[in-house]
Amino acid sequence: MKDFDPHEGILAIDTHVDIPWPGGPSPFEDGPRCVDLPKLKAGRVAAVCFAAYVPQDKRDAAGHLAAGTRAREMLDAIAAMAPADGSGGALASSAAGIEAAFAAGKTAIVPAIENGYAMGKDLAALDEFAGRGVRYITLTHNGHNELADAAIPRRDLDDVEAEHGGLSELGRAAVARMNELGILVDISHAAKSTMLQAAELSRTPILATHSCIRALCNHPRNLDDEQLEVLKAVGGLVQVTIVSNFLRPKARASDLSVADIADHIDYAVRKIGVEHVGIGTDFDGGGGVRGFMNASQTPVLTAELAKRGYDRQALKKIWGGNFLRLLRQAEVAAAIPALQ
Ligand SMILES: [Zn+2]
Repeated sequence: MKDFDPHEGILAIDTHVDIPWPGGPSPFEDGPRCVDLPKLKAGRVAAVCFAAYVPQDKRDAAGHLAAGTRAREMLDAIAAMAPADGSGGALASSAAGIEAAFAAGKTAIVPAIENGYAMGKDLAALDEFAGRGVRYITLTHNGHNELADAAIPRRDLDDVEAEHGGLSELGRAAVARMNELGILVDISHAAKSTMLQAAELSRTPILATHSCIRALCNHPRNLDDEQLEVLKAVGGLVQVTIVSNFLRPKARASDLSVADIADHIDYAVRKIGVEHVGIGTDFDGGGGVRGFMNASQTPVLTAELAKRGYDRQALKKIWGGNFLRLLRQAEVAAAIPALQ
């Protein structure tokens, strides 16, 4: 008799994956990347948010120009994973688009930007990013930018502990424009002050696309209980990530297993409910634990959650249903219709 397979038929979305840059191995072949199209197929991951990640650097005109250029080139590389001849993934920038790709057996590629530094001081860049299908922007990376304070200041960039005290005026305007454009506000990497202000200001629920639980691992990148309660109150999400030192203090990938990931998911679910929890691996950006080192091994985590008693409905919500709900809310709230 065939064993029950808890991952079967689940629309699984990984809400945070990096791409190698510059260049790097092909996404079309099963190669050294943690996430490529063959591994996504093998691991039955329906959709991935690929981040155009811009490291924080100087906040002068040259720095902002370089950040914007890099983000645009990375978005081109992400879009290229969905070639027009249909041989790769399907670019999907709406909840309906992701579901259509899933129904057609295609991997949905959802573009995102990690670090609002990519827009510099230019709000109009957000419109262009939305036009390229970007569905979330992480307000900061490590280091404060023009929009907001980060959870981890960059002393090498002369960051003070708190520069704006949360969101700057520009940051507040950016959140408002992102709401109008249907771009979700990602508060992973943001300071707690930034996160709390964004939660209050945003017309669309905010989310952490790749963060863990502070009560289980005291790392500044993780969310404390108050932040979790705020996410629940606004209808937002914590997408648990699989970065080893966010899961357990000073741990290495080889020290940890899917049980450690499930511990963080369990905590969040008990605290704020299964409607507010998901998964964003941070593969190819530092994510990975023993036995779950690449996308092909994704069902191992589903099996661990099923073993702990999560039923099919709960697994569906955690793996993608909750994120689709947020996308739909953002689409409804947007003044401009989302792209397919
Ligand atoms: Zn990150």
